[in-house]
Amino acid sequence: MTRIASHRGGTLEFGDSTPQGFRATALMPLEELEFDLHPTSDGAIMVHHDATLDRTTDRSGEICKLTEAEVRAATINYGAGGHPISLDELCAIYAGSKVDFRCEIKPDAEGRPYADFVPRVVEHLANNGMLERTVFSSFQVATLDALASATDRPRLWLVSPPVLRQVGDKAVVRLAQSHAIPEIGVHVDTADVELARMVNDVGIDFGCWGAHNAAQIKSALSLNAKVFTTDRPSLAIAIRDLRQETAQ
Ligand code: FE
Repeated sequence: MTRIASHRGGTLEFGDSTPQGFRATALMPLEELEFDLHPTSDGAIMVHHDATLDRTTDRSGEICKLTEAEVRAATINYGAGGHPISLDELCAIYAGSKVDFRCEIKPDAEGRPYADFVPRVVEHLANNGMLERTVFSSFQVATLDALASATDRPRLWLVSPPVLRQVGDKAVVRLAQSHAIPEIGVHVDTADVELARMVNDVGIDFGCWGAHNAAQIKSALSLNAKVFTTDRPSLAIAIRDLRQETAQ
């Protein structure tokens, strides 16, 4: 069965990386919560998509240059008045949930990896008993290498449409093999049967991201992707349930 990952806690249903979205996802009949992490200037790890607060909250500034208190003071747009939470708080919400973690390691606003960030994330997840329930993801191969040094947990490479187009299918697969990356995720609109087969044929798992409307969700399910991320987890669950009922 193709796994569903609630992207940023279901952005189109609950706002982008909001406490209400994370709490709602924890109770859903799906398999993974996708979220993104950034460090603060005073050593906290916050759950937020962008490197800055500008786009999705009422505040501005780079998270890595703000204190935890400053980040927490931001109110998230369309988020029922919620504020950004820490990785530790997210772990507490999921301690009793059947939904596992898909943790994306983000770079800073200029696209540079944060110094010594990966080992700290791994340590926080381990201390909260969530490391064994976490799969990691990144768009950056260097970050996937850092993850391999820090943990045995699975890693997946998020391949962006420009990278797929410019590097090419075959070179992407070779690069994944040379870095011992066990799983690749591509944007659902760039996924097709041939690519999925090419990836699977060399023993690498194949998944999709960005499946936010019904057609995209159906496409990811039809490709038998291992997993896909979606901003509309309730819709994805309904479509997957319907397909399973009609298949029986
Ligand atoms: Fe993400």
